[in-house]
Amino acid sequence: MRAEAVTNPEVLGRSVEGIADWHYQFDHMNPLCTDLRYRGQASRFQPPWGEVMCVVTTNSGVWGLGMGSLAGVTAPLINDYLAPMLSGEPIEDRERLWEMMTVACGSHFGASGVASYAISAVDLALWDAAGKLADKPVYELLGTTDPQPVRCYATGSDLEWFGELGFEAFKLACPWGPDTTAAIDQLVDLVGNGRELVGPSADLMLDCWAVQSVEHAISIGEAVRAFDIEWIEDMIYPEDWDGYSQVRSALPDHRLAAGERWYTDLPFLRAIEYGWVDVLQPDPLWVGGVTPCRRIANAAATAGYDLALHCGANDSYGQHLSAALSGNLWAEMYIGCSRGSPLMNSYRATPGMNLPLKGMLQPSDAPGFGIELSLSDIERATA
Ligand SMILES: [Mg+2]
Repeated sequence: MRAEAVTNPEVLGRSVEGIADWHYQFDHMNPLCTDLRYRGQASRFQPPWGEVMCVVTTNSGVWGLGMGSLAGVTAPLINDYLAPMLSGEPIEDRERLWEMMTVACGSHFGASGVASYAISAVDLALWDAAGKLADKPVYELLGTTDPQPVRCYATGSDLEWFGELGFEAFKLACPWGPDTTAAIDQLVDLVGNGRELVGPSADLMLDCWAVQSVEHAISIGEAVRAFDIEWIEDMIYPEDWDGYSQVRSALPDHRLAAGERWYTDLPFLRAIEYGWVDVLQPDPLWVGGVTPCRRIANAAATAGYDLALHCGANDSYGQHLSAALSGNLWAEMYIGCSRGSPLMNSYRATPGMNLPLKGMLQPSDAPGFGIELSLSDIERATA
């Protein structure tokens, strides 16, 4: 087995320039905006690295492709540390290999954050190769032979356009920084207008982008109570573990969601143990790949918690997992392009993937994850 990390975002089918512009539009992407000294400085805190692609090659020549982020650090982490560690191991042992990578990273420098992005790319490549070797789609390797269409919701602010695209469920992104009364008033207007636009029966969620203080998060929950929000997501700093309990206690009637910025299965197990949220949202490209998603899904199903993969409709990886994992309620389509653009220009779309039709998604049935890139495509795009 050979894992090779290469960097180039173009083959992901996404416009890097467009994504960057989109992120810089809103101060809420600034994780330090609660401090007045850093307001309006979102670009100062944006990671400067592009996307990573990881190719795993087996002895028989069959190969798999994993994708991820933060290439400036994840590419050397894969090539210098994870690839030599895994070389010669059988890819059938993916559970053990994931634990090997996670325990090794965790023992030396931490398995969360950047390490988790690197492990994700390797694990996804291993599953892609395993599917191609078995000539089966990954959802079938996960035990689902006849995947049913998955309900999708669209995330963003242009709900009118999302409705025209056939979506019937929506998630608004809270576009203001925390800790001002004005932001609460504006948020009430935003959510109220959104509810009016989509009608009383459509599912409408609210994403707070994980920058709120506990106090502000609780204020938000109280302020939007009248609008029948399906769930409120990422209300506080991702690792404010005590904060989750405080928000949960203060807002017992709201459905709460979190998990896109949690890494490995451990925070999800703690969330289940302490009842922090109702909906768990691991991201396959960030949490560590297919393997921890399956572990989280199994634990959630056993404990009666819901699963809604972060960006589950946005790429081939999330699509297979959204269709295969038990308890997954929704696939999220994060619309990262402007009105009128083809959805294949959206956030991290992969060539060969299906797009939602009338708000429902059916993953490709091609072997592996069905990503339509040849080795020469990858080589050319990443040279
Ligand atoms: Mg989110």
